Amino acid sequence: MLRVFRSPKAHFEHDAEFADRVYTPETMRELAAAGFNAVWIRVKGFEVVPNPKYPELGKDSARLLRNLNLVAERGAPYGVKLVVYCQEPLGLNQDDPFWEKHPEMAGAEWGYNYGSAEHPEYMRAFCMSSEPVREYLADTMGTLLREVPGIAAVITITFSEFQAHCFSHHGRGRGPIPCARCLEQGRTAADTVADVLNTMRQGMDRVNPATPLIAWNWSWVGFEDDPQPSVLAALDPRIEILADFERGDVKVDPFGKQVDQNEYSLSYIGPTRRFRLIRDLAHEQGRPVHAKLQVGTTHEIATVSNLPLIPNLYRKTRNFRELQLAGFMGCWNFGNEPSLNTRAFNRFLGEDCPATEATALRELALAEFPGADATTVVAAWQAFSQAFDYYPFSIPFLYMAPTNYALALPVRPGPLHADRIKRSWLMDPRDDRDDPACCFGPYTAEEIRERVERLCELWQEGLALFETAMAGLSGRTVREELSAARTIGLSLRSLRNYFRLYFLKRDWRDEHQPAFLSIARDELAAVEAAIPVYEGDPRQGFHIEGHGYMVSPELLRAKRDELVAMLAGTPAS
Ligand SMILES: [Zn+2]
Repeated sequence: MLRVFRSPKAHFEHDAEFADRVYTPETMRELAAAGFNAVWIRVKGFEVVPNPKYPELGKDSARLLRNLNLVAERGAPYGVKLVVYCQEPLGLNQDDPFWEKHPEMAGAEWGYNYGSAEHPEYMRAFCMSSEPVREYLADTMGTLLREVPGIAAVITITFSEFQAHCFSHHGRGRGPIPCARCLEQGRTAADTVADVLNTMRQGMDRVNPATPLIAWNWSWVGFEDDPQPSVLAALDPRIEILADFERGDVKVDPFGKQVDQNEYSLSYIGPTRRFRLIRDLAHEQGRPVHAKLQVGTTHEIATVSNLPLIPNLYRKTRNFRELQLAGFMGCWNFGNEPSLNTRAFNRFLGEDCPATEATALRELALAEFPGADATTVVAAWQAFSQAFDYYPFSIPFLYMAPTNYALALPVRPGPLHADRIKRSWLMDPRDDRDDPACCFGPYTAEEIRERVERLCELWQEGLALFETAMAGLSGRTVREELSAARTIGLSLRSLRNYFRLYFLKRDWRDEHQPAFLSIARDELAAVEAAIPVYEGDPRQGFHIEGHGYMVSPELLRAKRDELVAMLAGTPAS
């Protein structure tokens, strides 16, 4: 079974460039110890792969290829293979001189502030209706396998994300494709995606027909209903499928509300309806199917080392095993800190894992926390999972709510202003007066508040149990898991205070002052408790995709000092 993960130190935009420094032998050893047998590294074809027909591309390829070979070499002693992740034929900037020289390869333009790149992307596609592009794509894949013989598999995304082919962002209801060549040939997104994948396969076959090509179904629903039968029917029979375990369904929350399940999630078990449909069709065709998930943490709370919903991880692996999957890619470009989560997930997938949840959890508790009362450890984990049943799951909440950084956000009296809250996963400027209404998604403000209150309360109950079980114990796992559970508990307490405060700030009046002070005092207590937690564990507060600390001891101390000064001389509640 292919178990693919990645180092938390890896950099999505500079993956091959930094790979020699990131994937040290020590990192490989840690990944193997956490149960993985492969790492994924993003490869941009135009940067990494040389092509004598286009000497202007791949100028630094010798060094980048050497880095990839180094990763394969360093992983070998630990059984950790190199898996390439790519989106080919990845386009170039619209103003790249390449297009003046090769207008016969130029396709549709696309411009968007994508967010994870360092600069907004204004890209032009390589047009798959152009024969030189199809040859370029096959060359790219063949040369890559020839130059890096240690590549164990290629995983590829073919829709959305960046601009690669003309239809990368041109799904249903978008009108005629803005590419004269594709328009004239009557191309569609579905046949272009199949063409990209088959051409990649042909290029790989020139060098190593046995190396798997794994097609990720991310956002394919944008151009055809699930499970995209016309794409699957057109694919080379050896192309494998990577399907999102937690995207494409509706779930009912504990209050009876139906919400779209459309993002990575640890609070949801899965797999979704979409996953089952594509898995069934792919298996009918004899294609191996892999699962895409994030076993460390997700956007539900990303500035923590791991989100230990251990019973949910067990339940995911039960369904995973029943579906006879070939492997998984266990992270995206965050949520990839090796931790109890990763060890538990890989353990639960093992052949000798007990068939009942209670036994499996108990055995894990005994193995990870020798000397602890396993019953209490398991009760704490169950409480953590129950707490996250109340998480107000929706895309707007995941991407806009202040869960990741509420602890560092100032708490001040006064009304909101007109600006809206900024993106949760990047190092955007923060302002406590920003209006969070855009994060509510399908919920009302009151529904958000009641869910966050319950989430916070149940987590604190679990944390109290966990602290009891850990009392008197020491060691790395005890230290790390206490740190993660406390980080989450304090973040949720601060999030709860944020939404309590929202109801005062959206309609600010002087009469709110006593209620404000009561919230501010609780927030001060949370911040004071948080300082030693964050001082003791630099894994906490950092957003791996955003490449920055959203919560840090410095930010916490500044907030504490401001709260202390503000509360001085105010009447106690
Ligand atoms: Zn085109």
